Amino acid sequence: MNYKRILVFGAHPDDEQTMAGTMAKLAGMGVEVYVAIFTDGRDGYPEPWMKDNIVEMRHAEGEASDRVLGVKERYRFDRPDAGLVNDTATFKETIELVRRIRPDAVFNHGLHDRNRDHISANAIVLEAVGQAGEPVCAELGEPWDTLHFFYYKGVADREPDLLYDITGYAHKHLESRATQKSQHTLFKKTEEDFAAEIAGMRQENPAAYDRFWLTGRTPLRDFPDIPT
Ligand SMILES: [Zn+2]
Repeated sequence: MNYKRILVFGAHPDDEQTMAGTMAKLAGMGVEVYVAIFTDGRDGYPEPWMKDNIVEMRHAEGEASDRVLGVKERYRFDRPDAGLVNDTATFKETIELVRRIRPDAVFNHGLHDRNRDHISANAIVLEAVGQAGEPVCAELGEPWDTLHFFYYKGVADREPDLLYDITGYAHKHLESRATQKSQHTLFKKTEEDFAAEIAGMRQENPAAYDRFWLTGRTPLRDFPDIPT
C-alpha cells in the first residue's frame, strides 16, 4: 500500500470504519486518506427524540472519526438513507470526485450484501471509477485511471486476497467507533465499554490485520502470502 492518495467509499457514515486501522496506519505514513460517504444516515436513530437531529449528529461524528484516523477530507454526497441509487447525477458526481482526488487506490463495498445502499454503492463506484479513466464527460475533469481497486467488506464467496498488517493500529477501529455516539446502541457498547476496551487493546497491542479483496479491475499480481 505504497500510495500517495487513497479514496474510501462508504454507503453510510461509519461504514468506512471497517478499515479504520488501515486508514490510520496509512495516514501516519503520510498517505492522503479521503473518505466519501453516499448517504446522510438519517435512518440511524435508535431513539425517536434523535430523529430531527440525527443527520447533523452523524456529520459531526464523521468529522470526529476523521480526526481520530487522520483522514484528510470527507466528501458527503448526502443522498437519503435507504435511497441510494445509481442514477446519472450520483454516477457523474462520483466521476468528478475521482478525477479531482486522483487516488492510487479505491476501496469500496463488495456485492454480497443485504443492505440496499451497500449494493448501490458497489455498482456506482465500480462503474464510475472505470468511466473516470475514459475520455468522456470532459466537464467533470481530466480522466484519471485508478490502478488499484479493493473491497473492504461485502465479499462472501472467497477468502480475502490480502491481509494488511495493522498491528499497532488495532485500537483505531474502536476509537473511531467510540466517536459515533448516536450509534452506540447499535454497537451495543457504552462509552465506558469503549474506553476500557481501547485501553486494554493499547496495552496488549495484539497482532491484527484488515481484510481486502481485489476486484477484477486491479492489475496487481504479486501479493504477500496470507498468514494463517
Ligand atoms: Zn452501511
